[in-house]
Amino acid sequence: MNKNDIFEIEITGTTDEGDGVGRAEGMAVFVPYALVGEVVRVIIVKVMKSFAYGKLLEVIKPSQHRIKAECEYFYKCGGCRFWNVEYEKELEFKRQHVQDCINRIGKIEIDVPMTLGCTSCKGYRNKGQFPVTSEGIGIYAQHSHRVIDIDRCIIQGEENPAVLMAVREWMAECEVEPYNEEKHSGCVRHIYTRCGDSGVMVCIVTRTEVIPHEKELVEILRERVQGLSGVIHNYNEKRTNVVLGRRFRTLWGKDYLTDSIGHCKFKLSPLSFYQVNNEQTKVLYDKVAEFAGLSGCEVVWDLYCGIGTIGQYLAKGAKKIVGIEVVPQAIENARENAKLNCIENAEYHCGTAEALAPKLRGEKPDVVILDPPRKGCEESLLKTVAKQKPKRIVYVSCKPSTLARDLRILEDLGYKTQKVQPVDMFPRTHHVETVVLLQRQNT
Ligand code: SAH
Repeated sequence: MNKNDIFEIEITGTTDEGDGVGRAEGMAVFVPYALVGEVVRVIIVKVMKSFAYGKLLEVIKPSQHRIKAECEYFYKCGGCRFWNVEYEKELEFKRQHVQDCINRIGKIEIDVPMTLGCTSCKGYRNKGQFPVTSEGIGIYAQHSHRVIDIDRCIIQGEENPAVLMAVREWMAECEVEPYNEEKHSGCVRHIYTRCGDSGVMVCIVTRTEVIPHEKELVEILRERVQGLSGVIHNYNEKRTNVVLGRRFRTLWGKDYLTDSIGHCKFKLSPLSFYQVNNEQTKVLYDKVAEFAGLSGCEVVWDLYCGIGTIGQYLAKGAKKIVGIEVVPQAIENARENAKLNCIENAEYHCGTAEALAPKLRGEKPDVVILDPPRKGCEESLLKTVAKQKPKRIVYVSCKPSTLARDLRILEDLGYKTQKVQPVDMFPRTHHVETVVLLQRQNT
């Protein structure tokens, strides 16, 4: 097989990232935007040892579930994967992906129920990161640092077109340079936005310590963006893919956001993690509460607690909450949030879960919540948790493969996977969140 070869292939599967998979000349070919059951014409764009990437040229036989994409940038942008298929099928794909990981990687036999879907696939994201380059302002194409210039992103909150427009105008009028990744020159690297009950926070990330014409930037944002609550400057001078640097400066307004999930209120700083889909976060946390099954007398460890959200959502039903989180600003937020929510039975520790959990003194946990980032938990932490012999572990994961790996470890340490529930926090993208209940076998 060679680059530029053209094949007609049948799509028989889907990759973890939502691309179609077919075969040509005995090789697997990954085809973005092709759906299972379709016959498509593809041109080979890259040949690897055991597989190849194809670009969709024509859908010869379309799937009955194919729909017209609502997003005008869908076929260029690397952000979403499923705008061209009925939402029910996307939810089923996500269910199946979780099921496959748990069976194959976790070697666990359990039926995974249907993914809990969202009422709206649009406007759900409360956080945006838009790279700024001389090619434009927007979103990266798939697996690339090529920026697709966009005016709006329909999964983002409704304020995003005004923010993008205002920054564009400011840069043009004041001749502010965009960042050049190759040369590591220029000024504006990213527009970072977050919104909550308190309004919209816009953060401009620059390579330079000083923003030229910052007064004009604030003026134009205040004029154009409804509900603006704060304008922040973040300084990131490093050659890195990480969006935010460490230093923040408030140019105008508030340097934090507030938001609410169900009965809880939360305050958060720009560096703190917060779930991006508010409506589905409630669905997710309600599932966590159901799986945790608290009766009022349990000690709960909330590991990877962020700004304290899950633990505080559960706190009324618990004797005590002990949270661990590595980002200091998030721990500060967690302590403030406990006060905000009138919670007196929560304590917080700043550091990595793997380093701090073995040192926790006091009562043993009855229930442990694990909500790690994509790479999952360190094996040593899972051993520490199992040694404490909590009755239940509730594992919240944003990556099915690392979840399945960790479930296997926990099963080998004496736990049994009782329930698995995928929740769609990220409609139209390939990402899926999963909540799992594990129960201790012999006490
Ligand atoms: N439970 C929270 C946050 C989950 S995201 C919520 O629902 O909002 C994962 C969190 O783990 C992030 O806040 C991240 O900063 C933190 N984190 C990453 N690695 C960690 C580690 N090794 N130990 C403790 N916290 C960690």
